[in-house]
Amino acid sequence: MEARRDHLNGAIKDVELLRVESRPHARLGRRELFGAFKNNGHRVYRYKIAVEYSGGVQTPAGRGIIQPGEVVSEHLLTEAPYDSIVVWFDGECPCDVPDDLDGHWRRSWPAPEPVVPDDENPALQ
Ligand SMILES: [Zn+2]
Repeated sequence: MEARRDHLNGAIKDVELLRVESRPHARLGRRELFGAFKNNGHRVYRYKIAVEYSGGVQTPAGRGIIQPGEVVSEHLLTEAPYDSIVVWFDGECPCDVPDDLDGHWRRSWPAPEPVVPDDENPALQ
């Protein structure tokens, strides 16, 4: 079950949600939530983020590529009650687990309390 372990050692283990920040949005002119994700691994992953509300309704958020060691900040939503952040990842994996429709790995985090960054610079997204 080597491949299975390698699979679990992929994006699920490598990528963490550092924090959710409440920042003024440069273009929208109001406070919005941004998720900061970090890739602690050695592989490159493509990701696709959704915000999940109670009842399982999901709203698509950002998508992109995260490099090894990189921290990305993605716009999640207007400040509002939500349940969790769901992220699908794709990347190289030696296993034969079939890809989900949305990606090879799926990970979700319960909505954390947002933090207000000290610098308060509007996010440029
Ligand atoms: Zn895999």
